Amino acid sequence: MSSRATKFIFVTGGVVSSIGKGLSCACIGALLEARGLKVTALKLDPYINVDPGTMSPFQHGEVFVTDDGAETDLDLGHYERFIETRMGKLNNFTSGKVYESVIQSERRGDYLGGTVQVIPHITDEIKRRIHKAAEGFDICLVEVGGTVGDIESLPFLEAVRQMRAEVGAENVLYIHVTLVPYIKAANEFKTKPTQHSVKELTGYGINPGIIICRSEEAIDQKLKSKISLFCNVDENCVINAFDVGTIYELPIVLHEQGLDQRIVERLNIWTGAPNLKAWDKILEVVRHPKNGVVRVAMIGKYVELTESYKSLSEALKHGALANDSKVQVLYVDSEEIEKDGAETVIQRASEGGSIDGILIPGGFGIRGSEGKIAAIQYAREHKVPFFGICLGLQMAVIEFARHMAGLPEATSAEFKADACDKVIDMMESQRNVSQKGGSMRLGAYPCKLVKGTLARKAYGTEQISERHRHRFEVNNAYRAPIEKAGMTFSGLSPDEHLVEIIELKDHPWFLGVQFHPEFKSTPRNPHPLFKDFIAAALALRDRKLATQEGEKSSEVTISKKSAAGKADGPSQLEMI
Ligand code: GLN
Repeated sequence: MSSRATKFIFVTGGVVSSIGKGLSCACIGALLEARGLKVTALKLDPYINVDPGTMSPFQHGEVFVTDDGAETDLDLGHYERFIETRMGKLNNFTSGKVYESVIQSERRGDYLGGTVQVIPHITDEIKRRIHKAAEGFDICLVEVGGTVGDIESLPFLEAVRQMRAEVGAENVLYIHVTLVPYIKAANEFKTKPTQHSVKELTGYGINPGIIICRSEEAIDQKLKSKISLFCNVDENCVINAFDVGTIYELPIVLHEQGLDQRIVERLNIWTGAPNLKAWDKILEVVRHPKNGVVRVAMIGKYVELTESYKSLSEALKHGALANDSKVQVLYVDSEEIEKDGAETVIQRASEGGSIDGILIPGGFGIRGSEGKIAAIQYAREHKVPFFGICLGLQMAVIEFARHMAGLPEATSAEFKADACDKVIDMMESQRNVSQKGGSMRLGAYPCKLVKGTLARKAYGTEQISERHRHRFEVNNAYRAPIEKAGMTFSGLSPDEHLVEIIELKDHPWFLGVQFHPEFKSTPRNPHPLFKDFIAAALALRDRKLATQEGEKSSEVTISKKSAAGKADGPSQLEMI
C-alpha cells in the first residue's frame, strides 16, 4: 500500500511521565510491521535543548545515536529494538530544534513584514517535520513527549490536532497511554486519573480512539467498561498494558487483547494476521532459558539511574537470549571501587554469588575512572570475561599501558591535558571544536577486522560498520609499545589510523571497542559481540560450578575415606 497515503498514529501520555509511551509505540510498530506494513516512528520532545546530546544522563537517561550521527532520545532505541526500520536525524526533534529553524527563517527574512507566532509558524514547522519523516511509509507513529497538561507540549498537541483535518480523519488515529494506579488501602484500581487526563486531552480537541492503560497487575473487564464509558472509547479499544517480566513479552500481550486488529480497523487498512513467530520464540527463551542465569557486573558512574545504560542492558539481554540464558546485571559504582578496592567491591556486589563477566560502559570525565581501571586490572588478572565500551576501551588501554607496558603514568588527555603519557589523546579532528553540541565523532563508520581475533570470529566478516560518539582515541604514538606488551589491535579504521577494537590473547575473553555496539543490538538480531561476551561469561560460570562440584565430591571422598580410616585404624586423610 506504499502508493497510498501515509496513516498517522499519534501517541500521547497522561497522568504521569515514564509510563512507557515509547515502549507502547515500539510494540505497536512491531505488530503493524508483522502485518506487512512499512512503519516508521517519530519522537517529539518538548524541551528547549536542540538535542539531548548536551544533557547529562542523570537528566535525560541515555543518548541514543543513530547511523547518520544524530544524538537522540532513548525512545528511538526502543523503536529500533522492536521495528526493522532504522531511525535517523528525522525521527526525533525537540521544541528547541523547531524554534531554531523558525528563528533562522525569521532572521533570513522569510516572514518579512509578518509577526512570527506559535500558531501558525511553530505548528507549521512541527507538521512539516512530521510529514518529512513520514515520507514513503504506510504508517508513521508519532510519540508526543511529556504528559498531557504540560505547558511545554501544547504546540505539539495543537499541531497533531490540526493534522486530522488536513490529512483526513480516516488517516489519523490518536492513542492515549495512561496509568491506572492500584490503591493498596482501598484494595482497588482507580480509573479517575485516566478520566481526567482524557478529559484534558479532549479539551485540546483530540479524541483518543484507543486507550492503553498501564497497571501493575492485569485489570478486569468491569474496569475496562468503566474507562470505556467515561472516556468515550469503544470497550474493545481499552487495552491493558500490565507489568510484564520483560519488555519483549509486551507485543504478544497487546496483540492478545486485539490492539493491532483495532488499529487496522480504525485506520481502514486491510492486512492479513500478523506473523509473530519471532516474538513467540523470544518469549519462549525469556520464560524458560535452558542455560540458566549469568551474572555481569556493569561498572560505571550513573549506576543509580539505570536508564543511562538502557541500550547496554538491553543488548546484554539479547546476548543472553542468543545463548538461551538470562542475564542478571549488577550495577557497581566505580567510585566505591576507588574507596574499597576492586576485589572487595566486586565480591560485595556479587552477594555471595559469582560474577561471570565485567563490563565497563561508555562515559565522560575523570570521576570514577581509577575505579574502572582497577576493575579492569581485576578482570585481566583473574581471567574474568571483560567487555569495554568506548570509555571502557580507553580505560583498558590505560590499565594495560600502566601495568604491562611499563608506562605507570599512562592516562587520557580527557583527564589531564598536559600529562606526559597520554595513551588516549584527543582526536585530531576534535582539536579546534569550540561548540559542544553535536560536535563529537558521531554515527556509523567502517572498521576492518584482523584475522584470527575474537572480533573477527564474533562478526564472521572482514568489514563492519558501527556507531560512534567520542572525542578521544588511542594515541598512535603508543601503539607499538602497547602491542609489543601483548595487546592486539583487532579492529582498525580502513586507513588504519584509528584503533577501533582491542583484545588480549592470554585471556578467555577480553575485548574493548571504541564504538557503541549496544545501539545496533536487537532481540531478534542479538549483536555478535554481546553474544560472545555472554557465551564467555557462561563458560566461566560453568567452569566455576564444575570446580565447586569437584571440590564437593572430593570432600565426600575425603569424609568417606576418613570415616573408613576411623574404622580401619589411623586416619587416611594425610594419604589423600
Ligand atoms: N569520553 C570519551 C571520549 O569522548 C568516551 C566517550 C564515550 O564513552 N562515549 O572519547
